[in-house]
Amino acid sequence: MPISGLPPYDPQNIFARILRGEIPCKKVFEDEWSLAFHDINPQAPIHVLVIPKRPYCSFTDFSATAGADEIAGFMRAVGKVAKELGLEAAGYRILANMGEHGGQEVPHFHVHLFAGRLLGRMIAG
Ligand code: AMP
Repeated sequence: MPISGLPPYDPQNIFARILRGEIPCKKVFEDEWSLAFHDINPQAPIHVLVIPKRPYCSFTDFSATAGADEIAGFMRAVGKVAKELGLEAAGYRILANMGEHGGQEVPHFHVHLFAGRLLGRMIAG
């Protein structure tokens, strides 16, 4: 079933279950707004996911309905993760997939953070 990235939010999605502590994750960062953990199927030497703690289906949902404090807190968290992992000097890439054409698989908004090698072209294929 393709992911639409639009509400309603599915509280049984895998990241909702990680947030509730029902399944484990390799946590790298947590604050009031956000949780960051290693991707289970890394596409680069460093591949971390940063997710908001509140339930948003996608970037579309988050950008339209999250509060200003929450959006700021989340974006700062992405930057803090990169800083704490020591990625700033060599650089990194952030990416958010939205909906079917974006390739979104998990219907809880998340930002991918890739690093650890030259990352090549922006869009494969
Ligand atoms: P997306 O295609 O943007 O929705 O990306 C979803 C990402 O979640 C993929 O890179 C998966 O490898 C990752 N993923 C799925 N399940 C888990 C999990 N239990 N722990 C960590 N990452 C996961």
